[in-house]
Amino acid sequence: MKELSALAQSVRASTTIAIDTQFKKMRAEGIDVIGFGMGEPDFPTPEHIKQAGIRAIENDQTKYTPTPGTMEVRKAVCKRMLEDWGVSYEPEEVIVNAGAKHILYVTLKTLVNPGDEVILPAPYWVSYYEIIKMVGGVPVVVDTTEASGFKMSAQQLKDAITPKTKALIFNNPSNPTGMMYSREQMEELAKVCVEEDLYVISDEIYGKLTFDGKQYVSFPSLSPEIKERTILVNGVSKSYAMTGWRIGFAAGNRDIIKVMSNYLSHCISGTSAISQAAAAEAFAGEQDEIETMRKEFEVRRDYLYERMNKIPGVHAVRSEATFYMLMNLEELVGKTLYGVEIHDSDDFAKVFLEKGLVAVVPCTGFGAPNYVRWSFAVSMENIKEGLDRLENFLKNA
Ligand code: PMP
Ligand code: GLU
Repeated sequence: MKELSALAQSVRASTTIAIDTQFKKMRAEGIDVIGFGMGEPDFPTPEHIKQAGIRAIENDQTKYTPTPGTMEVRKAVCKRMLEDWGVSYEPEEVIVNAGAKHILYVTLKTLVNPGDEVILPAPYWVSYYEIIKMVGGVPVVVDTTEASGFKMSAQQLKDAITPKTKALIFNNPSNPTGMMYSREQMEELAKVCVEEDLYVISDEIYGKLTFDGKQYVSFPSLSPEIKERTILVNGVSKSYAMTGWRIGFAAGNRDIIKVMSNYLSHCISGTSAISQAAAAEAFAGEQDEIETMRKEFEVRRDYLYERMNKIPGVHAVRSEATFYMLMNLEELVGKTLYGVEIHDSDDFAKVFLEKGLVAVVPCTGFGAPNYVRWSFAVSMENIKEGLDRLENFLKNA
């Protein structure tokens, strides 16, 4: 048989999904493993949202919808963006489809010609890197350090720009670091993007999950100039505990949205009509439950951070948002744990899963080889048990 596409074959499977699959397999075999892998809220979808989905089925809202989404859901997105971040969009500037991940793919497909460079600050969510490659683009990784709060400076951004640079992927708050840029830092970056004529893909999917009373600033809200060149990406998965409903959206310049819609009209059409009805309720209805979940994530963040820092050999990086916490492993690199020499977080995560019975995400594929990511979208009871296991695992190694 002839060879498969070289581009398709160069794509690596998602580490987050691979870890979760391995964790679920071990569970199915009856092994008492605890998972901190998948970034997925452990809460059920709020009741009023579920009811909207049920009503949609009962009312026979079970047919194709317009590709960019029903008018109801696009209006609900506009309402939410205006109320939450003060950014104003018309429904024609919004496209709702099957999850933020696919929306990111279509956004990049729309912006990038083969060989165009896309700037990606590291640590980054594993899928960005692969999606840039999938559309024929070239990821240009800008490394940041723990000392700088994992934030990319305007100078670093400038230094990474070449005549081929098309766009910046800006994920704030960040998966996997949990870090959040201040308004001033964002303004400095925005200035460079305007001067250098870059598109900005602003993934704000964790924007509602911020801690310590910090106010989130949406990138397009900074100025009309930056809004014009920003494609805002968001969804319902994280804030509304709706990962399985598969709803994400992009908002931005209507010409870009139109091209995205044309592209999607051949590869998905509209996403599930039922999920769109539920998402419309999520965005336009009662918002109280987000706050309940956010508060619980903050309590877990505090516990995880404080206890992890008392465990010799590792330290936690205090997250300011999301439901992720990075654990720094530098002290363990070069050491041997349970007969395995630890070169990077891949080695650590493997042996921690096999011997410690805890699944965490190695951040090698996230551009941060000496860190693993703990998701605290799991119960407090499991967090306590997971940390007990970490303590014993390192003590007995
Ligand atoms: N962006 C980031 C930063 C994420 O962590 C995720 C998690 N899957 C997504 C986008 C995609 O979310 P979804 O496809 O579930 O909307
Ligand atoms: N984004 C989540 C994570 O980072 C869910 C898994 C995925 O879509 O990659 O774990």
